[in-house]
Amino acid sequence: MLSVRDLRVRYGRSVAALHGVDLEVPDDGVLAVLGSNGAGKSTLLRAISGTLRLHRGTVTGGEITYAGRRIDRLDPAAIVHLGVVGVPEGRQVFARMTVEENLRAGGIGARSAEQRVAARRRVHELFPVLAERSRQRAGLLSGGEQQMLAIGRALMSNPSLLLLDEPSLGLAPKVVDRIGAIIREIHDQGTAVVLVEQNAVMALRVADSAVVLEVGRVALAGTAGELVRSEEVQRLYLGGH
Ligand code: ATP
Repeated sequence: MLSVRDLRVRYGRSVAALHGVDLEVPDDGVLAVLGSNGAGKSTLLRAISGTLRLHRGTVTGGEITYAGRRIDRLDPAAIVHLGVVGVPEGRQVFARMTVEENLRAGGIGARSAEQRVAARRRVHELFPVLAERSRQRAGLLSGGEQQMLAIGRALMSNPSLLLLDEPSLGLAPKVVDRIGAIIREIHDQGTAVVLVEQNAVMALRVADSAVVLEVGRVALAGTAGELVRSEEVQRLYLGGH
């Protein structure tokens, strides 16, 4: 279980990005994190994955635990080692490397060669296109395929918790549906997921529970079904009236 308690984050002296965020993700859960631009969604993921410092951010209060261990003081590699792996916004695949080389880069942390082979098989089953395009340069893939590669690369280290930052960004509706279905499948195979999304329709379809962040605070929390029915979510994120 991932547990975030009263999490406070600042960038430099002037910007307070999170003002005491609480949330939990059970080991068999998918949590959607919704919210408008600047609400603090990416900041939350950076705090969990230990990458805040790369953005000049600091945890100034509260704590994050995973599987009973405090992780908010660990460096990113130690957090990956515990099974928590992030896919940052904007995909960031290695464009000049092949699809296979990208996957291999994700598998460096695997415990054994067998584990690496099993992980690659799982990725190829989830994303057959990555098997077909194995020798192609990643930069030549479509946006949707690059997103699949970014997720596949993260899966190569067999995460128990996957952190996804806006996987639907810039993708056509059909591709978004496909990515949503795959996230659910990854969950069904036993990986917990934190899904940061602007696309609330997709996120609430995929998630079990959800939180809405507003300027660094949790404004709403509940099951995905409760949030779909909430008037505020309908009005702000689902285009209802
Ligand atoms: P978006 O969907 O636009 O990425 P978000 O909900 O992910 O939005 P964050 O990127 O986490 O929001 O930003 C939260 C707040 O922190 C915003 O006010 C933002 O301007 C600020 N912020 C984010 N990154 C930095 C940084 N590296 N330095 C200073 N301020 C930052």
